[in-house]
Amino acid sequence: MAKPSLALIAEAKARASAGVDYSPRYGAICPWCGERAKITKTTPWEDNIRLRYHRCLNERCVLKSLNIYIKSVEVDTIGKTETVK
Ligand SMILES: [Zn+2]
Repeated sequence: MAKPSLALIAEAKARASAGVDYSPRYGAICPWCGERAKITKTTPWEDNIRLRYHRCLNERCVLKSLNIYIKSVEVDTIGKTETVK
């Protein structure tokens, strides 16, 4: 494998710290390697947003080798749905 460029690594780090989308079905996907990242911390719901922190467990992944947390953001707006009556 060619050594990944610093620009690509910076991009993956930026996405990991800005927060990736969290899916109840697929979880959070590592922005570097595309594997599902393991949850290490789940924060309580705050309004309609819940943050989680993950680590990628893929041994060949740059984010894993740099020990970088991946933040994920789950948004649930069901409670804000306008009802009929
Ligand atoms: Zn990864």
